[in-house]
Amino acid sequence: MNNKETETKRAERFEDLGLIQPLLKAVKEKNYTEPTSIQIKAIPLVLRGNDVLGCAQTGTGKTAAFAIPILQHLYHERRGKSDSRKIRSLVITPTRELAIQIAESFTNYGKFTGIHNTVIFGGVKQKAQTDALRQGVDVLVATPGRLLDLMDQGFIRLKDVEYFVLDEADRMLDMGFIHDIRKIIAKLPVKRQSLFFSATMPKNIVELSRKILRNPTKVEVSPEAPTVEIIQQYLYYTNRTNKKDLLFHILQNSDIKHVLLFSRTKHGCDRIVRNLKKQKIKAAAIHGNKTQNQRQKALAEFKAGEIRVLVATDIAARGIDINKLKYVINYDIPNISETYVHRIGRTGRAGEEGSAISICEPEENAYIKEIEKLIRRKIKVVKENPFPQTEKPMTSNEKKEWEKEKQLRKKEFFAARKNREGRSKPFKLSRKNR
Ligand code: AMP
Repeated sequence: MNNKETETKRAERFEDLGLIQPLLKAVKEKNYTEPTSIQIKAIPLVLRGNDVLGCAQTGTGKTAAFAIPILQHLYHERRGKSDSRKIRSLVITPTRELAIQIAESFTNYGKFTGIHNTVIFGGVKQKAQTDALRQGVDVLVATPGRLLDLMDQGFIRLKDVEYFVLDEADRMLDMGFIHDIRKIIAKLPVKRQSLFFSATMPKNIVELSRKILRNPTKVEVSPEAPTVEIIQQYLYYTNRTNKKDLLFHILQNSDIKHVLLFSRTKHGCDRIVRNLKKQKIKAAAIHGNKTQNQRQKALAEFKAGEIRVLVATDIAARGIDINKLKYVINYDIPNISETYVHRIGRTGRAGEEGSAISICEPEENAYIKEIEKLIRRKIKVVKENPFPQTEKPMTSNEKKEWEKEKQLRKKEFFAARKNREGRSKPFKLSRKNR
C-alpha cells in the first residue's frame, strides 16, 4: 500500500464499518488491527447492496473486502432458519490455489457466523467435492471449468445465488475462461448483487463488467502500481549462461531464508529446481504439469519452512498467499510489465516489508525500461555482481539464426534419446544442415 492509502486507513477501524460482532471477533482473531484501503471502501458499499467494480490486486486485502460483507448478509438472512442450505453466494476465481485460499478466508472470517462454504476446482477427483455440496453450503468458491462440469452433471444449480463475485477478472480472460464465464453468468438469477474484481482494467474487462454489474460503484486502490512502492527492488544485469551461477551467488545471502522464484516456463522451473538441488538447496516447483497434490504439498512445505526456494510459473503462483514472504526472485524479466507487478506483489503484502530481486539477460533489457515506466521508478542495479552483463542483445537476424540453431539442437537431442531407447534409427544432422 502506498502512503496515501495508509493515511486514509488510519481514519477507520473495523468497528466503524457497520460490521456485526461475530465478524469483528473473527477479524480480531486474525490479528487485523485496521482495515485496508479496499476494505474501507468496499465493505460499506457491499453492505448497502451496491454492485462493485473493484480495481485491486491480490495483496491489498480484497478477499476480506468482499467475503466479510457477504458473510454479514448471509448471516442476517440465515438467522433463525434451519432449512437446508442453498448456494446463496458464488465466487469464481481462475486458479485452484486462489479458490482454496478464498474458501479458507470465508471459513476464517465466518468462523462465528455459522455460514458454511465449500470449494471446487479441477485436477482432482470430484467425489469429495460433490459430497460436500450434498451436505448443503451457503457459499461456493469455484474455478470455472469444474463449476460448469458439476452444473452439467446436475450437482449444482445457481438459481438461489444472491451474491456473485468474479475475482481476478483480467487473469480469467488471460487464461481463456471467457466462454465459461459467459455460460455461468447466463445461469445466474437476474436479481442479484455482483462484485467484480480485477487488477487491471483494460477495455475488454470493462466490457465484461458491464454485462455482469448493474449501476456499479467503482472502487480503486492505487491504480498503477498497487503494492510495489513498499518493496525494495534490485536488479542484476547478466548473461543467460551465467544466470544459474548468479542465482547461487544471490542465495549465499543467508538473510534469504525463503524465496519465491519465478520462471517463465514449466521446463525452466524444473531445470532450476534440479540445479538448486545439486547445490543442496531445498527447492520445489509448482506449475501446470504438477498434480494438484504435488502443488499443495510443495506450497505446504514452503509455508512450513522446509523448502527454501519455491519455483513457480506466473499462472501457478497467481494469487497464492504466503504470509510474510520477504523475498521474490525473477529469474527472467516478464515482457508484460503488469506481470512484474503481479510477481513482486507476492511479497510486501498487507504492508509487510519485502524485496524483489530480478535477473536480466541482454534480450530482456528493453523490458526493464517498460517496467520502470509502469512503476514510475528506477530499479536499483546491484553493482556487486560477479557475473555482469557483457553481451549485447541479439539483432533480429542473430535471433533468427539462434532460433534455427535451437530447433536443430532440439531435434538432435530427441533423436539421440530415441536412439538410446532403441526405438528408431539414429538421426544424423548433416554438416550442411547446421
Ligand atoms: P488478499 O489481497 O485478500 O489476498 O489479502 C492479502 C493478505 O492480507 C492476506 O494474507 C490477508 O490475510 C491479509 N489481510 C487482509 N486484510 C488485512 C488487514 N485488515 N490487516 C492485516 N492483514 C490483512
